[in-house]
Amino acid sequence: MRLTVLGGSGGFPAAGGACSGYLIEHAGFRLLVDPGYAIVPRLLELVPAEGIDAVLVSHGHPDHVADLNPLLRARLMGDDEALPLPAYALPDALSRVLALDQITALKDACEVREFEAGDALSIGPFAVESRQLPHSIPNAGVRISAGGASITYTGDAGPTDDLVELATGTDLLLAEATYVDAVPPGNATVLNSALEVGQQAHRAGAARLLLTHLMPGTDPRASRTAASRHFDDWIAVATPGMTVAL
Ligand SMILES: [Zn+2]
Repeated sequence: MRLTVLGGSGGFPAAGGACSGYLIEHAGFRLLVDPGYAIVPRLLELVPAEGIDAVLVSHGHPDHVADLNPLLRARLMGDDEALPLPAYALPDALSRVLALDQITALKDACEVREFEAGDALSIGPFAVESRQLPHSIPNAGVRISAGGASITYTGDAGPTDDLVELATGTDLLLAEATYVDAVPPGNATVLNSALEVGQQAHRAGAARLLLTHLMPGTDPRASRTAASRHFDDWIAVATPGMTVAL
């Protein structure tokens, strides 16, 4: 299994950057997790639009789904024919982004497959477990397994034992860490800091921790240092183009 980071900005894309977007490949199958703002130009440097086999979305915030629109446009308007794109998402998570466009053919370019948090999914070669994790709108954490390895991804989520359970023994915890040490009051139950995801990674016994969704302007070294207070294995900060082999 191979992970390629397309973007790791939280909230809005940093200069030259992109928001959440992760390409996960195994056995020739390409799964795009969270098509957030500005990931499509980076994706198209690696793979033609019709080369994506499925999309999996954690939740409906635009920094996680907005670029489904240009991806579908690229599949529809490109020279090569593309099949309808299966898009796995919680109920209603894609309705706004799919309503953006007046191109009527666009709705046929996407085949929405809704699931409930807690469902187990089979997407190509990937077995996916999902879990509701706390956020300001419904958000599914997912554990994606293939070839004897697993990646656990939080979407956006406040600290929770449910993540520890979902990520137990995972090979890579890909975790939203919008803030460094503490989440400001008001968002403390719906977002994470690097310090807090380090604690959860330690409790889960994750092998590696990849911090993502840092607020633009955050010093990545500060985030790594904060996460390392509780987690003493491999820690990195997601940057566009980074790949991790599992
Ligand atoms: Zn969110």
